[in-house]
Amino acid sequence: MDRQQQFVLRTLEERDIRFVRLWFTDVLGYLKSVAVAPAELEGAFANGIGFDGSAIEGYARVHESDMIAKPDPSTFQVLPWEADEGRSYSARMFCDIAMPDGSPSWADPRHVLRRVMQEAAGMGFTCYVHPEIEFFLLKDLPEDGSEPEPADRGGFFDQASHDAAPHFRRRAIDTLEAMGISVEFSHHEGAPGQQEIDLRYADALTMADNIMSFRYVVKEVALTQGVRASFMPKPFPDQPGSAMHTHFSLFEGESNAFYDADDEYQMSATGKAFLAGVLRHAPEITAVSCQWVNSYKRLVIGEEAPTLVSWGQANRSALVRVPNYSPGRSASQRIEFRLPDSGTNPYLLFAVVIAAGLRGIRDGYELPPATSEDIALVSDAERRALGYTKLPGSLEAALNAMENSELVAEALGEHVFDYFLRNKKAEWEAYRRQVTPYELKRYLSL
Ligand code: GLU
Ligand code: MG
Ligand code: MG
Repeated sequence: MDRQQQFVLRTLEERDIRFVRLWFTDVLGYLKSVAVAPAELEGAFANGIGFDGSAIEGYARVHESDMIAKPDPSTFQVLPWEADEGRSYSARMFCDIAMPDGSPSWADPRHVLRRVMQEAAGMGFTCYVHPEIEFFLLKDLPEDGSEPEPADRGGFFDQASHDAAPHFRRRAIDTLEAMGISVEFSHHEGAPGQQEIDLRYADALTMADNIMSFRYVVKEVALTQGVRASFMPKPFPDQPGSAMHTHFSLFEGESNAFYDADDEYQMSATGKAFLAGVLRHAPEITAVSCQWVNSYKRLVIGEEAPTLVSWGQANRSALVRVPNYSPGRSASQRIEFRLPDSGTNPYLLFAVVIAAGLRGIRDGYELPPATSEDIALVSDAERRALGYTKLPGSLEAALNAMENSELVAEALGEHVFDYFLRNKKAEWEAYRRQVTPYELKRYLSL
């Protein structure tokens, strides 16, 4: 047993932990959990825990369903909210998923991301990311399709902060910090009930784990405050949706490989090529960053969400923003990718974005000029004349772009690529067959 594993066993005993929750993520980004007694853990470290992979979205075909969850001791955390009289009684660890022969499972999103990070490491890079996570607090999650009620009025009325969940953000942040997940900023977002919490940067794998924990913590804390949290990309037709803007940078050892003091944008040739890769492959990776039918309701003009491939410095309609450089902070040079929504699978998202950026570096892509115009104010004809590429406007269009992408197939691996396309085509088809109240209202009198 290695030191980390020993540390976990010691902590379990010292803190009298009764349940260890082993977490992993399915291909669609749902968190899965199996609880084991602490006494089982020594065996779990040695041999993993077997489970039926065919019951997990995207994991296995039925004839090869046995899979093994191997807890990663570096992700051990006591869960602060599962407590009796202030004393925690459960902990969690993320797992890597293996096949019965011990080889990593191709269906495991953690493994997908690990492979792309290894590719980066082979080129001398570590990738750091930080997300700005937007979500809604709602009074309830109605199951009958009726419109939910936001938990607050977002400052439009007096005493807005005394609405349904006045202590929510503080409690959520305390809990996250108690789990070792550092929060950088938080604030109320544009729509009633909409919140944003930004996490402090970490390497891509740690951050993907952190985002999975974050969603769970936020939902749990919301429940304790008598409200519900939703990461649905666009719950309200007339309000902005929930983005998960993500900042990416590459480091070579201690130094930020995106930084160049002498450049007009303080952006190195490496940073520009990475950015060019993300731009060029953006339509192909849209299905992964915006994976639900509903995701495309967010990507409309005029709500600070991107609709075209473009980049700029201050421009909030751009797909990628290079935040204005502040002198003396060379380590923070990065790009902000504004496409993803809060319903994305973070492992797969990071894998495809980093793969696109690395491709740009390896093949020496050239960066197109920055845009200064606000896309929302430019007409369709002007956009065409300026040569902008449109982002896919529906899940179907995004899947078509993804299907032809050799880059995404390679980054996700054949198994996840095929499963994702199959599952999402079925989602689109089910949606396409709906006749909505909107259509009835609009067309019944024909
Ligand atoms: N909520 C906006 C979106 O869906 C982003 C707002 C912001 O710029 O933070 O893209
Ligand atoms: Mg925001
Ligand atoms: Mg942002």
